[in-house]
Amino acid sequence: MAVTQPTLLVTVDRTKCCGYTLCATEGPDVYSIDDAGYAVAMDNVPAELEGQACRGAEACPDGAISIQRIGPTE
Ligand code: SF4
Repeated sequence: MAVTQPTLLVTVDRTKCCGYTLCATEGPDVYSIDDAGYAVAMDNVPAELEGQACRGAEACPDGAISIQRIGPTE
């Protein structure tokens, strides 16, 4: 099985996150909610999860998620 290169760096600004969980609803394989109720994102997102990463970021009402491209698109 081929190893997929990470393509996106996803970060959550916890000072902006209010724990609405919409990111985890839209991107359950990229985002999770920690015990304190804040979002945690997979650091390096592979190409097959780009859609979830972007949908989760777009769903965040607080603009707490930033995405930076670190690798090639598929
Ligand atoms: S949608 Fe935004 S505010 Fe809600 S948990 Fe995710 S990062 Fe936090």
